[in-house]
Amino acid sequence: MQFTKPEVSISVRIGSGFFLVLLLMAGLMVIGIVRMAEINQRMERVVKVSNVKVELAYTMKNALRDRAISMHTISLMSDVFDQNEEVTHFNELGGGFITAREKLSKMDLDAQEQVIITSIRDLAGVARPAVMQVVDLSMQGYGVEARALISKQVVPMQQAIANKIDELIDLQKSETSIAVAEVTSAYARARLLMLLLGGSAIGAGLLIAFVVIRNASRQAHLLEHQAMYDSLTRLPNRALLADRLQQTVLIARREKLSFAMIVMDLDRFKEINDTLGHSIGDQVLQQVAARTRACLRESDTVARMGGDEFTILLPTAGHVEGATAVAKKVLLALQEPLQLAGRKLDIDASLGIAMFSPEAMEPEKLMRQADTAMYAAKRAHCGSMVYSAELDQKADTGSALQGELRRAIGNGELLLHYQPKIDFATSKISGVEALVRWQHPELGLLYPDKFISMAEENGLIKLLTQEVLRLAMDQCAAWHKTGLELTVAVNASAISIIDPEFPDQIAESIKQANVPASLIELEVTESAVMTDPMQAVDCIKRLNALGVQVAIDDFGTGYSTMTYLKQLLVTKIKIDKSFVKDMAVNHNDAVIVRSTVELGHNLGLKVIAEGVEDQLTWDQLKALGCDSAQGYYMGRPVAADAFIEWLRKSPWGHSN
Ligand code: C2E
Ligand code: CA
Ligand code: CA
Repeated sequence: MQFTKPEVSISVRIGSGFFLVLLLMAGLMVIGIVRMAEINQRMERVVKVSNVKVELAYTMKNALRDRAISMHTISLMSDVFDQNEEVTHFNELGGGFITAREKLSKMDLDAQEQVIITSIRDLAGVARPAVMQVVDLSMQGYGVEARALISKQVVPMQQAIANKIDELIDLQKSETSIAVAEVTSAYARARLLMLLLGGSAIGAGLLIAFVVIRNASRQAHLLEHQAMYDSLTRLPNRALLADRLQQTVLIARREKLSFAMIVMDLDRFKEINDTLGHSIGDQVLQQVAARTRACLRESDTVARMGGDEFTILLPTAGHVEGATAVAKKVLLALQEPLQLAGRKLDIDASLGIAMFSPEAMEPEKLMRQADTAMYAAKRAHCGSMVYSAELDQKADTGSALQGELRRAIGNGELLLHYQPKIDFATSKISGVEALVRWQHPELGLLYPDKFISMAEENGLIKLLTQEVLRLAMDQCAAWHKTGLELTVAVNASAISIIDPEFPDQIAESIKQANVPASLIELEVTESAVMTDPMQAVDCIKRLNALGVQVAIDDFGTGYSTMTYLKQLLVTKIKIDKSFVKDMAVNHNDAVIVRSTVELGHNLGLKVIAEGVEDQLTWDQLKALGCDSAQGYYMGRPVAADAFIEWLRKSPWGHSN
């Protein structure tokens, strides 16, 4: 099983940002449109009602005027037939007047209009008998009297009614214009509001889009940087160096030019790290990186390869003299003691120089040569050395160290450091992990990263493992004798776990050391098991039969399937430190650790976490139900004496 850290999906974030803005704008638009439509409707209604009112008032006024004319005409007529016809017309006009007035009074009138309509009705009521009298007099042939009555009584009354109707028309007109003005200004306000809202939505949208795009590009830049650069020193990493090296090789081959590569390794760095703490170790690396970078050209590359190893690529150094001068410059820059948290620290480095020859040379060979030269420089304590074929001969195969390891094992140059494992249930130590070191007579204390893979490559791993098992079991037995019941875990390489002789070898060591098998544990990595799962399962079965427990180391970094995990008969999984180290600050890591704990428990396995560097991580693992933990926070790997000292003083120390 392998866990990868998910990258932040930039496109999704941009997409959701834009979508939000779009939604906001659409929402505002809808609100605005609905509001404008409402206003429009109200305006139409007001205008329609006002028009009807004004029209009805005009109808009344026209009827009144036409009736006056008709009445006057009747008073002048002498033909009875014509008179009758005119009277019918006169009555129709009166009906028109009344209908218009009734229609008007049924409409939604305000108080002032109501008063006017009422007074029109009253005036018409008073005028009615005089009007009827005029018509009667005319019909009976008293035209002169009728006309006298018209001019004396009817005209003033009709004038009064006409004035009232005019008043009504004026009132209605002014009310209409007020309503229209009100609605128009409401419309203008709504439009302004919409403009403002739309404008601010676009503004906000642009702002959000700007922020989202800027963040996304920063994120992308960061991811790219993380993939290509070392986060501690900000130097290019191994991947970027490989890329630049390839480019340089292509150019060199085409132009038939040479160039130089320098491998630099700090002396006794692991010791500094272990004695002064790794925060000091980190500062050392940062300062060394900065100083080295400062004395090189822009076109040169300094990369951190991991640990305390740096590589310098000099694409324009065509001659060995130039490369040597650069190496001297770097050494000079490192001569001045480093300033670290108020203390001065001397640091030495060893540099190996190799020149690329464009005729038939692979970049890997160049790296190897620079490496060999670096080890030669380290051995000779001379700062820097240029690769030559003699160095290879001295070192029999490839690297000088390889030839020495066999002798070193026989000479007792290997030793073990012990790192405590703490149980969450008791907050006390339950066992230790044995970690091998090589006390090299010239190179100082060497850590496994410098020689384990080499031992695996040249077949020495079997011998090495045997020696480690012997040392670990002797130590375990010695502690056991003094009443110190600690399980001791030994790391077994892939080669061991698929070696059919391995269980017998263990059985023999246990017998020799006279130690209970239950105190011995083996740690094997997932990838080691997966090189030959069937054989590994067989081996683990036989180890179990001996009473030796097996744990899966670096869990989460290799590929293993659930099926095998179940069949493996292991009792424990050890979550790799790359997930544990930052789980307190990295959510993805925390999720991976939690699901690994759950998975382990579901399969009936114990779960241990390695790489616990602070209290917060300890607390979180405890809350997750993890069974035990190992890490610098509780205790670093140290030699047996120092370990006993730790046991005495530490709150995690043994209860007996
Ligand atoms: P490993 O088995 O994963 O061992 C744990 C490594 O993590 C050790 O490095 C230990 O010093 C380090 N470590 C422990 N706690 C912390 C912590 O809190 N933070 C950090 N950053 N690191 C921590 P070491 O001793 O350099 O060993 C490196 C690797 O070498 C081991 O990894 C193991 O794979 C291998 N190794 C060590 N001893 C033997 C051995 O006797 N035989 C074989 N085959 N391999 C060995
Ligand atoms: Ca281990
Ligand atoms: Ca491990």
